[in-house]
Amino acid sequence: MVRVSACATPLRRLLLTCSGTRATAGGIRALGTSLVKNDEATPYRPSTVVAPNMMDIGVRTIFNEDHDIFRKSVRKFFTDEVLKYHKHWEKDGNISRECWLKAGEQGLLGTDTPAEHGGIGGDFKDAAIIMEEQSYVNCSGPGFPLHSQIVMPYITHYGSPEQIEKFIPDMAAGKKIGAIAMTEPDAGSDLQGIRTNARQDGDDWILNGSKIYITNGYMSDVVIVVAITDSSAKSKAHGISLFLVEEGMPGFKKGRKLDKMGMSAQDTAELFFEDVRLPPSALLGKPNQGFFYLMKELPQERLLIGIMSCANCEWQLEETREYLRNRKAFGKTLSNLQTIRHKMAELKTEICVSRAFTDQCIQEHSMKKLGDEGASMCKYWMSDLQNRVAGHCVQLFGGCGYMTEYPISKAYVDAKVQTIYGGSNEIMKELIARCIFR
Ligand SMILES: Cc1cc2nc3c(=O)[nH]c(=O)nc-3n(C[C@H](O)[C@H](O)[C@H](O)COP(=O)(O)OP(=O)(O)OC[C@H]3O[C@@H](n4cnc5c(N)ncnc54)[C@H](O)[C@@H]3O)c2cc1C
Repeated sequence: MVRVSACATPLRRLLLTCSGTRATAGGIRALGTSLVKNDEATPYRPSTVVAPNMMDIGVRTIFNEDHDIFRKSVRKFFTDEVLKYHKHWEKDGNISRECWLKAGEQGLLGTDTPAEHGGIGGDFKDAAIIMEEQSYVNCSGPGFPLHSQIVMPYITHYGSPEQIEKFIPDMAAGKKIGAIAMTEPDAGSDLQGIRTNARQDGDDWILNGSKIYITNGYMSDVVIVVAITDSSAKSKAHGISLFLVEEGMPGFKKGRKLDKMGMSAQDTAELFFEDVRLPPSALLGKPNQGFFYLMKELPQERLLIGIMSCANCEWQLEETREYLRNRKAFGKTLSNLQTIRHKMAELKTEICVSRAFTDQCIQEHSMKKLGDEGASMCKYWMSDLQNRVAGHCVQLFGGCGYMTEYPISKAYVDAKVQTIYGGSNEIMKELIARCIFR
């Protein structure tokens, strides 16, 4: 049974209670006063093909009524607490601390982190709902998925009980913001080419080097830094370790927020390490095992990108449908023109086919069965599709599509990075091919 923490807000309690009943009811789920049997009595859930709107609540068979209740509250959070302020944050280059704290209060950070570790105790589908809802408001600012589903899992999977206790509850509350720093100016796709290094000095480590393009970097309170710790190892992969570097440590400096073509409200920064003295308690997991930890965790990072890309495609289609219904040309609305209708038919078909695959990946990942191959396929396919859909949707908006006051233009520039980070799509194809010929 999932522990319900004393400080849980009503929403957190709801989520935890729902998760608890899901986990223990053995085919019977209790929801409020109703009792739903989990087989032939399960209510019909439409696919996005037949749903009146692809973002409707209550669709898709991988979810159930508990998820719907949760999704409703998450949707409200992103509408009230994110969409409203996003334009302002785009000028700032980052979202507010207050938003992180509010997300924490509502149980939207570390949602699938076990409660016994100080997380919320939900499941991966709960986490997927949060990512989808962020994509459904077309706001790329909050780096919540990276914080919750990338950084926190490293700490819970490889951290000591002391590290987990020190970081996880505060990260779930939004009091500490997490980042992960792998990329360097001379090493991105080729991670084994990093130069940042840590040498031992007594029991301590001395960290030197720099990292670039780090999401949440400017606001980060704790950064997982990838560094070489044994340059004479039999291969570079055998000489890499992970460290937890904290804001305020002498020698740890943050560079400026980097100017990007899109994702303007997402904080992306350079980080510098000059003789940063790290105590033994800063080492995450075992020394020289860092590369293998990365290889184990990266598939989830790729799936997150696929999930967000797929949801954003759905948002784009709905946004464009609405526009075409209202825009008048040649005495009718654009939605009456056959070439436009056919383009929309092509886009919806591609998105629905891809939704089926993405849901299959979410389901398999929830059962801990999704491997490198599936996660890479999902990231590659969905991020490519997101860019294709964005190109067509901007075209369908005409001149308005090129204007920043129309959110579709933001979707277009935000989409580009999805094929680059988290491992570029060329690297995804390499990983898929390796699995094919293994
Ligand atoms: C907005 C943003 C946020 C980011 N956030 C983070 C973060 O939080 N943490 C972090 O560590 N990093 C982050 N990154 C870095 C990102 O993961 C890297 O940019 C990405 O892995 C690509 O590395 P690179 O930029 O060095 O490109 P390169 O590795 O130089 O690649 C350049 C081009 O060559 C291609 N290429 C490279 N190798 C091969 C190959 N073997 N076969 C075929 N083609 C190849 C690539 O696909 C790409 O098209 C972020 C990047 C951006 C833009």
